[in-house]
Amino acid sequence: MKEIDWKNLSFGYLKTDYNVRCYYRDGQWGQIEVCSEETIPMHMAAVCLHYGQEAFEGLKAYRCPDGHVRVFRSDENAARLQATSRGLLMPEVSTELFNEMVDRVVRLNERWIPPYESGATLYIRPLLIGTGAQVGVHPSDEYLFLIFVSPVGPYFKGGFATNPYVITRDYDRSAPLGTGCYKVGGNYAASLRANKWAHDQGYSCEFYLDAKEKKYIDECGAANFFGIKDNTYVTPLSNSILPSVTNKSLMQLAEDLGLKVERRPIPLEELETFEEAGACGTAAVISPIERIDDPDTGHSYVFSKDGKPGVISEKLYKKLIAIQYGIEPDRHGWARIVI
Ligand SMILES: *Cc1c(COP(=O)(O)O)cnc(C)c1O
Repeated sequence: MKEIDWKNLSFGYLKTDYNVRCYYRDGQWGQIEVCSEETIPMHMAAVCLHYGQEAFEGLKAYRCPDGHVRVFRSDENAARLQATSRGLLMPEVSTELFNEMVDRVVRLNERWIPPYESGATLYIRPLLIGTGAQVGVHPSDEYLFLIFVSPVGPYFKGGFATNPYVITRDYDRSAPLGTGCYKVGGNYAASLRANKWAHDQGYSCEFYLDAKEKKYIDECGAANFFGIKDNTYVTPLSNSILPSVTNKSLMQLAEDLGLKVERRPIPLEELETFEEAGACGTAAVISPIERIDDPDTGHSYVFSKDGKPGVISEKLYKKLIAIQYGIEPDRHGWARIVI
């Protein structure tokens, strides 16, 4: 294996040694298969290809200073995939099977888990697809659940820093009674144009309001939003955003730190009142928001004037990372030692 420059890896795909697969046929899940192929033999009429019956997850394994490798809250990812499966009429992968396959694929690819000092991690990507061949629109009768891994670089190469976002009213990523609360590719396909529009103007990401009224905060691209004011952690309650495991963890840590936690609709104008704001998800944990521009009104909601993240955001960020790396006591039992 040639030397890898772990610190300078991007968030991209790097070939590893193995992936694990399990097929659902005749109404049941089969045996776990270990595979070194990167491709999937699939019928051209597979339901996932035409009608988007597919779901995915994303989590990470961390090589820790105590020599162990930990996986963070995989039970939550399993539960979310089960919710997504119910939403798209796919068979559920049990938490037991999910965790067993996560552990197998991490152990099989141990040499690809980046060293602690690099700040890089092993990204774990579970994928569930309807593989049955059909032309009519109805749920597939066969499925493939697979998990691959890829080492990914540290999110903040130049240190924990803030980013600008832009509100879009011209595109929606999900509808209130649609699939926004499920982790499915269709939501991402729907977000590509808005994301390109934001990037072309130099923004880190697009910022979504609720699709129905455009009155409330929804999500920051593919990350949840939170704001901090008056010692309170506020995050949107909406049926068109994805329940983020990171956000759920930050809400608990905020409470542990003595903050109040509110999960409720957040009117757009309330952005004015936040002292700090951030986007959260597995990739970055917290990506602090410098400002959110509203091009339709010309207004800018500014959270950081000097480019530095807020004090509470930084505290929450450091606390969560320390738990993921086994440095701080894991009071809530979130990390599982895999190696
Ligand atoms: C995956 C995802 C998130 C973040 O969820 P985590 O479990 O924290 O990684 C947020 N929003 C969307 C739309 C997502 O797909």
